[in-house]
Amino acid sequence: MTRERLTLQAMIRLYCRKRHVTVSGLCGECQELHEYSQKRLQLCPFQAGKTACGQCEVHCYKLPMRQRICEIMRSVGPIMVWHHPLMALVHMFDGWRKRPVGRRKN
Ligand SMILES: [Zn+2]
Repeated sequence: MTRERLTLQAMIRLYCRKRHVTVSGLCGECQELHEYSQKRLQLCPFQAGKTACGQCEVHCYKLPMRQRICEIMRSVGPIMVWHHPLMALVHMFDGWRKRPVGRRKN
């Protein structure tokens, strides 16, 4: 759980710095999203036994928030894996990626 929390935090921070050019901390929008996601994690009924949020049957994120998180994961994901390989994010991404992201064919 702690790992997931830290991961989320790091991702949102990275995203905000990159996308919103925030120098320190988070912009209001990202702060809101961050607080929301932390709260969701705390309230998650699965807690320790839980896998990635994307695979969670309980969709604890409200749709707009989920879309924002997905957006963050998509744009920051590759960088995160590069910078923090130890966080072993990959399983987490797989969870999010199962939702149709685009219509591109491989
Ligand atoms: Zn931001």
